[in-house]
Amino acid sequence: MTTFRAPSDEAPATSIATPARTCPACGSVVRSKRPETVYCSGKCRLRACRARQRGELEARLGRAEAALAEASAAVAEFHELVERWR
Ligand SMILES: [Zn+2]
Repeated sequence: MTTFRAPSDEAPATSIATPARTCPACGSVVRSKRPETVYCSGKCRLRACRARQRGELEARLGRAEAALAEASAAVAEFHELVERWR
């Protein structure tokens, strides 16, 4: 039987047999024997989740700023054209 697990974007693709894993958030040893456990504690899991959400938000803000700059340039160009057509 095959067990499906959601791929983790932070855990390196190491073998399940690897005995010592380290927490990607704080670097301490992950003591859980469950192979799907990535972080050493709920605190580190939450911290990593918030860092990921912050990164996604910053990327969105970057795209929004670029779009606003583009829109502003287009509006300015439009007004220039309207002035010339008068
Ligand atoms: Zn940790």
